[in-house]
Amino acid sequence: MPTAHGRCTNFDHCVLADRRTLVTLPDDAPFLCPACRQPLGVPPVAPNTGIRLFAWLCALALFIVGGGIVAVMALAHKPPDRSVPPPWQAAPRPPRPPAAPHINVPH
Ligand SMILES: [Zn+2]
Repeated sequence: MPTAHGRCTNFDHCVLADRRTLVTLPDDAPFLCPACRQPLGVPPVAPNTGIRLFAWLCALALFIVGGGIVAVMALAHKPPDRSVPPPWQAAPRPPRPPAAPHINVPH
């Protein structure tokens, strides 16, 4: 049997409203408070935090993976920077050490 849920909003006049009791009624019953016969209010739907957290984590993962893919593609297609010579061309050669003086050894 399907049921309907509601909360009485007849505060200060109804004990169910004052206790914020969730009233469960058969679906074919009038949507009235069983204590004070006032129309019931529909309780707010509680957000499903588990699904929301999962959705946020999925979005975060997609963002990170997507950003990584974009970064890799950007680095792969980057033309080499020709304004700066490669280090093996830019580094000046160290000066050669002075040749050792030739010493004539008498025989
Ligand atoms: Zn009531």
